[in-house]
Amino acid sequence: MTMKILVDNGHGITTPGKRSPDSRILEYKYTREIAREVVKRLKAEGYDAELLTPEDADISLGERCNRVNAQCDRYGTKNVCLVSIHNNAAGSGAWMTARGWEAWTSKGQTQGDKLADCLYDSAEKVLKPLLPDVKIRTDMADGDRDKESNFTILYRSRCAACLTENMFMDNKEDVDWLLSNCGRDAIVRLHVDGIKMYVAKYGKK
Ligand SMILES: [Zn+2]
Repeated sequence: MTMKILVDNGHGITTPGKRSPDSRILEYKYTREIAREVVKRLKAEGYDAELLTPEDADISLGERCNRVNAQCDRYGTKNVCLVSIHNNAAGSGAWMTARGWEAWTSKGQTQGDKLADCLYDSAEKVLKPLLPDVKIRTDMADGDRDKESNFTILYRSRCAACLTENMFMDNKEDVDWLLSNCGRDAIVRLHVDGIKMYVAKYGKK
């Protein structure tokens, strides 16, 4: 059975906050641009990828999970994976110093951890040559690199699910890099390559 790849983008056009202090990055918009390109490139290579939230509106987390689980019913839970694309923030409106990339899964060992592993491998491969001192942020307390929290989108989606926080939109250097052609392409590529790695290991194209 072909792997159904669902790509989610955080938030929506009316979500308050969720932007860089200078408003050059609006998280809902930036992550939609990235998610669209990820889906486009995967489809061009013959993968069954689609946007979970094609709307600009902030679709509720409950509805997002319902959409994921409807695909799980249709294709079988092990044949579906979900990546939710976000930008990180360390503060609430002012420029901060934290930088880097990280990914989250729900608590405990689940298939999501395997998906996160592929995305971490890909992030290291794609980001390190471009940003030699990039911080790949991890939490090794439970034996793997991803951070864990029962975010609704991760916890209530039945399939492998992982949420990526792609650099900090309240760090000036990260914002400049995210908005550069090189940065955008790298964020897209790390998702495309990580998802392809996961499909190669745990599913079929
Ligand atoms: Zn977010």
